[in-house]
Amino acid sequence: MGTRRWLLACSRSPQTSMMLNSYVKRCPVLPVRRKCLLVFSFLVMLTLHPSRSHGYQIQRAYRNAQTSFEQLLEDPERQEVRRYWIECIREFRSVYMAQPKGPMADDALFMTAHLFAKLYEISGTSQDRQEAVDYCQRLLNRFPESEYGSKASQCIAELTGDGRENAGRNRAPAENKNSRVQTGSLVEVKAVRFWSSPTYTRVVLNMASEVPYAYKLWEEGEVDGELERLFIDLDHACIGERIKPYVPSAGALLQNACVAPHGPDAVRVILDMKSVHHYKVFSLANPFRIVVDVRGVPVKKASKIRYEHEQKKPGTTVPRGALAKQLALGVNRIVIDPGHGGKDPGASGYLNGVLEKNVTLEIAQRLARKIQEQLGCEAILTRDGDTYLSLEERTAIANTKNADLFVSIHTNAHIKMASHGAETYFLNLATDEDAILLAARENATSAKSISDLEDILSELMKNAKQEESRRLAGYVQEAMVNERNPQYGRVKDKGVKEAPFYVLLGAEMPCILVEVAFITNPGECRKLNTAAYQEEIANAIATGIQRYVEDIHPTVAEVGI
Ligand SMILES: [Zn+2]
Repeated sequence: MGTRRWLLACSRSPQTSMMLNSYVKRCPVLPVRRKCLLVFSFLVMLTLHPSRSHGYQIQRAYRNAQTSFEQLLEDPERQEVRRYWIECIREFRSVYMAQPKGPMADDALFMTAHLFAKLYEISGTSQDRQEAVDYCQRLLNRFPESEYGSKASQCIAELTGDGRENAGRNRAPAENKNSRVQTGSLVEVKAVRFWSSPTYTRVVLNMASEVPYAYKLWEEGEVDGELERLFIDLDHACIGERIKPYVPSAGALLQNACVAPHGPDAVRVILDMKSVHHYKVFSLANPFRIVVDVRGVPVKKASKIRYEHEQKKPGTTVPRGALAKQLALGVNRIVIDPGHGGKDPGASGYLNGVLEKNVTLEIAQRLARKIQEQLGCEAILTRDGDTYLSLEERTAIANTKNADLFVSIHTNAHIKMASHGAETYFLNLATDEDAILLAARENATSAKSISDLEDILSELMKNAKQEESRRLAGYVQEAMVNERNPQYGRVKDKGVKEAPFYVLLGAEMPCILVEVAFITNPGECRKLNTAAYQEEIANAIATGIQRYVEDIHPTVAEVGI
């Protein structure tokens, strides 16, 4: 009944009518020859003006999204099916993603929020409501001048219960310990965590919620004669009580760190580094945290400098192992990351009590032994027991240990129990919706956060060994599918894929994430729970890594340790 009422309300909504009227513009019917001429002229124009072509494609994609929405509104039966809403939302979102600062971006963001709000009225799920609020909030943050601003604010008020009629509805109870932050309306810096080696530093600022931030390198050059200083300014923030001071270790790149008030409602984080070769600052969602990665100037490593210089050349692609071979870069140290752990169990298996965190640890430990025995390489586990590690800590371990490869082990999950097979990922924009959903699950965040991340991903990947990662993924996936004992049956090859995983962000070596099998599939879950199959998977991954290593550095197997 509620659904029907909503359908009526929706079809009569003046806002919806306005939007529909503005885009339902059909092209007049033209004589065929004239049409052809127009099309030809247009194609020539597009060739001559690629940016105009891009703009046109975006406008066309937006019109298509509107048409899909219009069709959805005309079909009450389809409106009852969640998938149609999601497809429509995806169309609007892709318009935004194609040009996040373009002229259609605020329109597309608003429509994405609007559709989630409408979907929430049908589904009643808090996730849909949160998505709507988040998209409205993003619209307000990124486009303060947008004509949709007041509608977005109103939408947030209605959905979060700030509106009078909805007061208290679906609102999370405020905990006492947070009230201090809320009354001051400043966002607390809850923790500052540091990892530092002589050449690399990662600093993570955990915030109570999202805040605007800015960063810069001290422009005057060196501080105190020999250090370089990096600032991160957090607006509308205050310092939490549990912030621990940084204790520098001998030889670390990070020499000193300080968190201090910066005016009445801001916080400044000051990082004094021995040197700064390059750095990047990015944020992750749920909980909101800001990650600062700094790589110091390499010392006595001419080949490394040359390698990074080569990588930065625009348009440079690394031919099959050629660059690595040329520079004689071997693989000596591999960091293996068993997914999840401790309070984060990962996906639950088809069988009661089978958890992703335990299966990944078993496989990773076996893999570490094989890497040491077969490849003669050093293998380091990010965790060797049932302990919790944040995703950013895992990458920090790989970077501070100067690992040559980083391999994160996971088991897949799907609402359809029949889903099965293996797939291997490397860091990039997501290639399909399944990859987005998987990344959202592995990142313990929402699909919206994934699209947020994609906005900044190209910037983040400047120093990533993307082409090497793709090749490593190819070897491992190939072995995962073909190097198996026939007694276990064929493994479905779900291929090498791309997605933005938090755990791979900022890794400075070739890095992959392997989804070894579906823990939600009855057959694969049973097998994953046996030592023999865990051994089998570890063997396959080790074989894939070995082939990659031999390819980039044929003598490494002979050289051994
Ligand atoms: Zn996982």
